[in-house]
Amino acid sequence: MSESSTCQSCLALLVDYVDGQLPDDVRAKLESHFHDCQPCEDFLATYRATASVCRKALERTIPESVAAKLHAFIRDELCNKSKA
Ligand SMILES: [Zn+2]
Repeated sequence: MSESSTCQSCLALLVDYVDGQLPDDVRAKLESHFHDCQPCEDFLATYRATASVCRKALERTIPESVAAKLHAFIRDELCNKSKA
């Protein structure tokens, strides 16, 4: 397996890895690759930071007035689209 295809298959598993969904043996292989591969390690760090920012943003509840406007907007968009 070439270096770049190893990176690609590692990055393809990244979401499951961060979510803790991978079997132990796969996780161990990923971790050893990340340990040896600076670009992948950097990507993992960035991914983790981004994921935690997104989670925090989603935890914040939307004010009811904004939610109502958003629903109205989406409904109008869908109605206009289906008419067109
Ligand atoms: Zn790599």
